[in-house]
Amino acid sequence: MLDYQARPDLLKGKTILVTGAGAGIGRAAAISYAAHGATVILAGRTVEKLEAVYDEIEQAGNPQPAIYPIDFKTATDSDYQQMANQIAASFEQLDGVLHNASQLGQMGPIESSHTATFMQTLQVNLNAPYMLTRYLIPLLREAEHASVIFTSSSVGRKGRAYWGSYCVSKFATEGLMQVLADELENVSNIRVNTLNPGATNTAMRRTAFPAERPTTNPFPEQLMPAYLYLMGEDSLNVNGQALNAQPIKATS
Ligand code: NDP
Repeated sequence: MLDYQARPDLLKGKTILVTGAGAGIGRAAAISYAAHGATVILAGRTVEKLEAVYDEIEQAGNPQPAIYPIDFKTATDSDYQQMANQIAASFEQLDGVLHNASQLGQMGPIESSHTATFMQTLQVNLNAPYMLTRYLIPLLREAEHASVIFTSSSVGRKGRAYWGSYCVSKFATEGLMQVLADELENVSNIRVNTLNPGATNTAMRRTAFPAERPTTNPFPEQLMPAYLYLMGEDSLNVNGQALNAQPIKATS
């Protein structure tokens, strides 16, 4: 997918929500979506980071984004309902969601894992996107074509020792995607897929692999062809798929 070339106006007139838009892959995707014409709703927990992305998009002369601060660790069901209501009050339709925010959680054997930390990772990586999607479906139905992208990982497709809650959360994300894709196929305009970015030079990767030379991995910006392809209408027939943004390394 990395050789996909998006036309400059691929996302013109579309409104797209990106979670974890302040850093890493989410930041690059928000900037890239805006550069291709989208109005991007920047969601995340660190307002200063979201504001920096907002400024970057504005300075580039791209459509004015919106900011929605939310911490997935502490947000409740009604917070997600309120978030969907507020987005619906400002926008007539939602054309896409990139569920990108995640935490790595505690690495190590299940036997010595901390139960509360395990559950918190599921809260951030799985329950939050579930609640958000559930409440956003009515607004996604208002779009002519809508794309929901859940971010997976290689460890969401094959279990790996010591990746505990993160691995489990990504497997469950694949399941959530499959259920939604099957439910919405033929009865809606909404397609739902997962995208595994693969090993990417971000803070999360550097934390997970401290001994690795970061520059052996691509920067988030280099993955954007895949993120654009799946968000735009060139992927209209793609639903219920588990896709990879780049060729997979053994450790990605
Ligand atoms: P980063 O850690 O660089 O960025 C994660 C983003 O998620 C940040 O914007 C962060 O906000 C946000 N976030 C984390 N916790 C919360 C929370 N509680 N509430 C709201 N927002 C939160 O990660 P990457 O960019 O590397 O990862 C992006 C996605 O790609 C993730 O889903 C990850 O699992 C996946 N992935 C990444 C790989 C890689 O090699 N980098 C490989 C495979 C999958 P803040 O900056 O404020 O902390």
